[in-house]
Amino acid sequence: MNAVTLVRAENVHKSFGLNEVLKGINLQVRRGEVVCLLGASGSGKSTFLRCINHLETLSNGRIWVGDQVIGYRQDGDRLYELSDKEAAGQRKSIGMVFQRFNLFPHMTVLENIIEGPVLVKKEKPAEAKRRASEMLARVGLEGREKSYPRQLSGGQQQRVAIARALAMEPELILFDEPTSALDPELVGEVLDVMKDLARSGLTMIVVTHEIGFAKEVADRVAFMHDGEIVEIGSPREVLETPRHERTKAFLSRVF
Ligand code: ADP
Ligand code: MG
Repeated sequence: MNAVTLVRAENVHKSFGLNEVLKGINLQVRRGEVVCLLGASGSGKSTFLRCINHLETLSNGRIWVGDQVIGYRQDGDRLYELSDKEAAGQRKSIGMVFQRFNLFPHMTVLENIIEGPVLVKKEKPAEAKRRASEMLARVGLEGREKSYPRQLSGGQQQRVAIARALAMEPELILFDEPTSALDPELVGEVLDVMKDLARSGLTMIVVTHEIGFAKEVADRVAFMHDGEIVEIGSPREVLETPRHERTKAFLSRVF
């Protein structure tokens, strides 16, 4: 793969039993690019994100991140699934932020953030703690190391989840509706952090219904319908002059 492209999904198919939910997704994401993924509920957005870090196997097709085929080892024409340990190794460089934060409730903010660096990347605890504090400051939560998730608002918990992802120094972060579970007044603080990350040059794929965010921050917007990307282009193209009927219908519902 060339130096410019970080993610390349080629003909990605995914079925659950007889239900084919991804029907041949093709997508390339450049380093430093922010791609927002829009689409109605059930169109396959989460499944596609989960395929990118091999939380799901593929039924067909292939995904590269950097020069690695995700989840599989290629031997001639055949693909062999990696072991859990090998897949976890690949996931080190791919962060994921979920709708429901997924922080460990019995651990402090600091413990949540250093867990990955210490256990997976074998960082020294002192160094991991130092960097965790840096990441907390980066998401606007300086000094909250000793708090427990339940002592924080949803917006703050989501920012901790972002700090936790950043602590692994990923080259790519996948966001799956990171603000959908938040009270409306807390959405802005999380989007502000994400805008900041986008400006810093991080490569991001963001599933979101926040059209304003997509308009302002995305380099490209992709619209998914029924397991396919039916339209992709600049925010202006896709959001202001959509060509596909499904995109038009979706946007008219959202606005
Ligand atoms: P979106 O994120 O766009 O709302 P999803 O990727 O969550 O869509 O789901 C796409 C389709 O795949 C849905 O019909 C959903 O029911 C189905 N699906 C998702 N995960 C599973 C699973 N683990 N087992 C069976 N069906 C699933
Ligand atoms: Mg989803």
